[in-house]
Amino acid sequence: MPRRPNILMVLTDDHASHAVGAYGSVVNTTPQIDRIAASGWVMEHAYCTNSICTPSRASILTGIYSHVNGVTTLSTHLDNTLPTFVSRLQEEGYRTAVFGKWHLGEGEDHQPRHFDDWEVLRDQGEYVDPLFLTPEGEHRRTGYATDVITDLALEWLDRRQAEDPDAPWCLLVHHKAPHRSWIPDEKHAGMYTDPIPVPETFTDDYATRGVAAHRAAMRVADHLTRDDLKQDPPEGLTYEQTALWKYQRYMEDYLACVASVDDNVGRLIDRLTEHGLFEDTFLTYASDQGFFLGDHGWYDKRFMYDESIRMPMLFSYPAALPAGKRSERFITNVDLARTFLEAAGVEPDPGMQGTSFFTDLREELPPPPDQAFYYRYWENDDGIHHALAHYGIRTERYKLIYFYNDGLGLPGTRAAVFAPEWELYDLERDPDELHNRVLDPEYAQVLAALKERLAREQAKVGDEPYVVTHDGAGLPLPRNRPPQPVR
Ligand code: CA
Repeated sequence: MPRRPNILMVLTDDHASHAVGAYGSVVNTTPQIDRIAASGWVMEHAYCTNSICTPSRASILTGIYSHVNGVTTLSTHLDNTLPTFVSRLQEEGYRTAVFGKWHLGEGEDHQPRHFDDWEVLRDQGEYVDPLFLTPEGEHRRTGYATDVITDLALEWLDRRQAEDPDAPWCLLVHHKAPHRSWIPDEKHAGMYTDPIPVPETFTDDYATRGVAAHRAAMRVADHLTRDDLKQDPPEGLTYEQTALWKYQRYMEDYLACVASVDDNVGRLIDRLTEHGLFEDTFLTYASDQGFFLGDHGWYDKRFMYDESIRMPMLFSYPAALPAGKRSERFITNVDLARTFLEAAGVEPDPGMQGTSFFTDLREELPPPPDQAFYYRYWENDDGIHHALAHYGIRTERYKLIYFYNDGLGLPGTRAAVFAPEWELYDLERDPDELHNRVLDPEYAQVLAALKERLAREQAKVGDEPYVVTHDGAGLPLPRNRPPQPVR
């Protein structure tokens, strides 16, 4: 009987996979994170099922979708009586801890539970001298958040090994970085002053997209604030030049925050190795979602376009998994809980959704045919980023997105009234998702088939079609009417 693995997850906030060396980044290097790739698996198709912090974190812990665990938005907090992979591990003798960003609620019913030890950032967390919440109350720690959180994890690890080296453990290291407002550690400031490559889609004009893309206030050129950029653009630049200057400023700080994460991942791997634990630890590096790095002109996430939904996800567990592998298997944040539990030989809670892919990784099984995953973003204009709610599916070749655009133009308000809209992308011919094919007759059959597939995938995870509540003029539709078909 092999030793039960330790479970160590480093979860960052808003770290796009295209800013990870192992994913072919052209804007930075991440030599420490890449060590995980060299000793394990890089998941090429890891996706978030609701691309925003709180819901993704809840889905990772509980192994269930937003519409089932109720954590659909930033303001819906986690019911901490729900089973999680951590609660199951604790019940089976694992020692458990979480340090760093929580962001799932701070009241008694929402704060960390089933952790032997925890110390988490208040709210979104601060980069410098951050305030922490603990079971004993709050206190401030001095230093740079990414270092401080790693220090807490290392101290815990050392203590665990000193007190009870035979008990398996589960340790979650949750960084605030590289979340907005991108404040680098002093030692990384100035690391990226050379011109940073600009993505080809930076000047996307959204010509064939629905209103959601036009309405979103996430544009590098228009919506980054002085707090984000820390200085005013030079005077006398054109609009285009100013946009590029803002992109450079934004990316300099974003990538410097990532550099600190990378250093600290190295510290964790080194300490595991010193303790002789690296072989027997199921080590995961992931982010709660992806992020736009100037792609389509944006920063932020939310939308179902690939840069936003694609999570970096790397695993190593040398005692059981092969090294230096890349997987084309579709995997989502919902799948992590069952995967960790299978690796640990612990039965999942029967209510957990998702699929364990641990055996697939161990035995290097090919991905199943005809993969697809269901996505839903629930916030229908948060009043800041103005992204509209939508759902859809991504298959290996296509992506279908449905924006219901409902209830935004209520009578008496100045907001425009919109009708539902579809977007369809052929990822083989158009990997940058620039050409919405929904009105293209050539794609009529594909569209019909994808709509059916979407309905099937939605039903399979227990979600339901959105029922429109207002007509095209913004007037409330009568209640108790039959649900409107999604067409
Ligand atoms: Ca996030």
